[in-house]
Amino acid sequence: MRNNAEGKNVVIVGSGVGGLSTGIILSLLNYSVTIVEKNPLPGGLMRSYRRGGIDCPVGVHYVSAMGAGEPLGKMFRVLGIAVDDLFYRMEQGGIIDRYIFDDFVFDLPASMNAFEISLRNTFPADTIALDVILKNLHEIASRMLDPAFILNQGDPFQNMDFFQPMGDLLNKLEASAGLRAVLAVPCQLIGVELDQCPVIFHHMVLAGYLFSSWRLKESGSKMADVFARRFDELGGKIILNDGCEKIILDGGKVIGVRLKSGILISADTVVATVHPKILLGLLEPDALKSSYRQRIINLKETEGVLAVQISVDAAAHSEIDHNIYRLHTDEKGLIRDGIFYQLRQGNNKGENIVSVITRSLYSDWSKWENTISGKRGKDYEEKKLRLGQDLLQKANEVLGGLKNARILDVFTPLTLRDYVNCPEGSCYGVLRSADQLLKVASLSKVPIAGLFMAGQNAMAPGVLGTILGSFNAVRQIIGSERFAEAFNWEA
Ligand SMILES: Cc1cc2nc3c(=O)[nH]c(=O)nc-3n(C[C@H](O)[C@H](O)[C@H](O)COP(=O)(O)OP(=O)(O)OC[C@H]3O[C@@H](n4cnc5c(N)ncnc54)[C@H](O)[C@@H]3O)c2cc1C
Repeated sequence: MRNNAEGKNVVIVGSGVGGLSTGIILSLLNYSVTIVEKNPLPGGLMRSYRRGGIDCPVGVHYVSAMGAGEPLGKMFRVLGIAVDDLFYRMEQGGIIDRYIFDDFVFDLPASMNAFEISLRNTFPADTIALDVILKNLHEIASRMLDPAFILNQGDPFQNMDFFQPMGDLLNKLEASAGLRAVLAVPCQLIGVELDQCPVIFHHMVLAGYLFSSWRLKESGSKMADVFARRFDELGGKIILNDGCEKIILDGGKVIGVRLKSGILISADTVVATVHPKILLGLLEPDALKSSYRQRIINLKETEGVLAVQISVDAAAHSEIDHNIYRLHTDEKGLIRDGIFYQLRQGNNKGENIVSVITRSLYSDWSKWENTISGKRGKDYEEKKLRLGQDLLQKANEVLGGLKNARILDVFTPLTLRDYVNCPEGSCYGVLRSADQLLKVASLSKVPIAGLFMAGQNAMAPGVLGTILGSFNAVRQIIGSERFAEAFNWEA
């Protein structure tokens, strides 16, 4: 079905990095764009929040591939946002992440070559497996650097072997448990287990961070504000605090949206950057074939997280220039549980901030499923605090006794669910597992004229995957030919 946009009035539902970047691209192409956002401030997961005057990150801890010739770097340039204003390159210490397992430590170095050397030194018995994995990784990395990568959005990947689960490939290659454990970590960054993670996603995530890894200079709020300001500068309009309640169709075609306040906005194109299950609720039940609806309803989600923000004495604990993962694996090298630690300079004098994130099942919070943020009751607060204190104890073990440690906040899958409307508090949206790869792939094309999907559920999660999805949505809206001519990727 051809559903290129006919007119130039666009409404984008959601102002996360997906909505704002899509809005910027369409504004650059002279579309008249309105973003509608249910929250009082734009930015979604990108925006940080303050507790006791201290800035706490939500969904941007480190971002990949923002160097000049790298995919996200090129996309930032087209968006007109200077990477260096917002981010600094990690790697001063030569490593990006430290993976601490029970029986060994692996440092993820800051380049593809160093990674190869490190893997070969650490796993000398895995030569055969490493030859295959590194060849694939190099191939995928070089495709990511090719201009066709953004223009064709994944079409260059014709090799079906890249779509098999990493687990199957590693079984065939008889990889050691240690190698599996190391390779399992990048899967965590898109919320898929190693044995279900398609090779392509795994290698794209890993290659991205090996190209270059970046941290925010200041805060997620600044990033959100810079994106919102750029959109505003280009003539875009943001309506805050008034979520989209319905996407209105006429004769099977989009004609506008109705907001919670009752305001109607007409539009020939709507881009939904919300979770597909939320999108279903914005459409009349008969707008989509029941088989398509059912496919969305049955989608499995990535898991939720519990995140603890801890203030520590800055004099005793200076910023650590890499991230730390403390991981426990089973005998096959699959990660049973893991905790992510980031110790950053804080915005308050004398205080630095430790962010701790670990998996948390939605079902563990089912007792409060029907409550809303801020009104879940004392027992919920107590459970949060108890788990927060456990994580603080573990942070003490990993980072060394933390001086003047003070828990600033704990957030749960329910917090994220209510904050950005992600079902079950899923961190990275729908699960991009090998089992539901085809179902998920069909999401980026909604079979309704004038309706498009962007945001982390359209193509891939993370800042890189989400912005890639924004360009893909625009490609669908304006057509591939015009898209190929619209932007100068070589500059
Ligand atoms: C804890 C955590 C840590 C992460 N860490 C990293 C990281 O270090 N690096 C990285 O690259 N990625 C990271 N990610 C992933 C990254 O944050 C996301 O992939 C990305 O921010 C998603 O952007 P989005 O625009 O798709 O969604 P969102 O940011 O969720 O934006 C969707 C917006 O839509 C709004 N909305 C929902 N329903 C409606 C409605 N009906 N009407 C109007 N508005 C609506 C929401 O309020 C929200 O503002 C992390 C995610 C989480 C949860």
